Amino acid sequence: LASRLQDIPPTIFSQMSALAVRTQAVNLGQGFPDVDGPPEVIARAVAALESGQNQYAPGIGVPALRQAVARHQQRHYGIELDPDSQVVVTTGATEGIAAALLGLVNPGDEVVVLEPYYDSYVAMIQMAGGVRRPVTLRAPDFRLDPDELRAAVTDRTRFLLVNSPHNPTGTVLTREELGAIAAVALEHDLTVITDEVYEHLVYSDGSGRHEHVPLATLPGMFERTLTLSSAGKSYSFTGWKVGWATGPAELVGAVLAAKQWLTFTSGSPLQPAVAHALDEAPDWPAQLARDLQGRRDLLCAGLADVGLEVRVPEGTYFATTDISALGWEDGLAFCLALPERAGVVAIPSQVFHDDVEAGRHLVRWAFCKEPSIIEEGLRRLAAAD
Ligand code: PMP
Ligand code: GLN
Repeated sequence: LASRLQDIPPTIFSQMSALAVRTQAVNLGQGFPDVDGPPEVIARAVAALESGQNQYAPGIGVPALRQAVARHQQRHYGIELDPDSQVVVTTGATEGIAAALLGLVNPGDEVVVLEPYYDSYVAMIQMAGGVRRPVTLRAPDFRLDPDELRAAVTDRTRFLLVNSPHNPTGTVLTREELGAIAAVALEHDLTVITDEVYEHLVYSDGSGRHEHVPLATLPGMFERTLTLSSAGKSYSFTGWKVGWATGPAELVGAVLAAKQWLTFTSGSPLQPAVAHALDEAPDWPAQLARDLQGRRDLLCAGLADVGLEVRVPEGTYFATTDISALGWEDGLAFCLALPERAGVVAIPSQVFHDDVEAGRHLVRWAFCKEPSIIEEGLRRLAAAD
């Protein structure tokens, strides 16, 4: 194995999903829905497959999808994009992350990143030769501390890598928190890469509905912000791996410059289908969010009933619990024992931390599952000793 990969452990998601299959556990670990996206969108993909759209698409993506992404950003956020230079289609947001970091980061550049982090950030910053500088969102509220953010920036910092709605904590950064990020970016002339794959999966609570605010909409930020999203989360097609990067032509061009050597182009028959979803089913993600909110509440109430301290998430697929109340200290040990003890799989948040102590007692549970599955998982947890 090449040295650039040697100290990066295999992704927790493969490990835990394999464990779920092996033990026939209820998989509340890896975040993927158990019901597919809109049938008419699937029909579009089938039609594209059957009508001969099976050869290479343009590297930048098929025009219909780039135009639909531009219309989506306009409709939801008032962002105007030139679909020919400010949108690039990627093979999931995962390739967007990879191509952005490989296309922009020079060896030794520091990338400030929120932790707990999505694990591919760590791998890709390292493969790009960058240096990560984590800023911890701390339990129990997982809010961004602007002082910690400022303290993480040095004269070698070139990038902020942001994720909101945030996996795994479920935090949706507020306008104030995003304002603090923007202020730091402007003051230090930083480029911002923002992973907004959960942009539509935001929920309500006592204080109203949380709002996803794209960083690119803050004053002065469009010019320095590359935004990543994908159809996986918004339309429940995680296996399609159709994503996009948007922003100023220079940043989008850097993604394309790297992407052409990674995949050259993304799967052609799925792109017109996703274009159809964005244009013709614009309200589908909001309905999904309403469904997910009920599942969030079901899961959170059940986890609290078994004695876990639960942080009710503002967005995403995930709820985080503190397991100390059950007498456990180490979330990794807890999650490795859970399939045998209870027949359930969950994800230990500590693997998403440099500051392992800050995440040692935290465990992430996915609620993007049918209510009957969540209920079965909860029954098993309640029955375990
Ligand atoms: N970023 C975050 C925060 C995610 O949770 C995911 C989902 N796995 C991704 C990126 C990757 O998205 P995609 O499946 O579109 O590659
Ligand atoms: N985003 C999903 C999660 O966090 C799945 C990611 C993956 O399997 N790489 O669970």
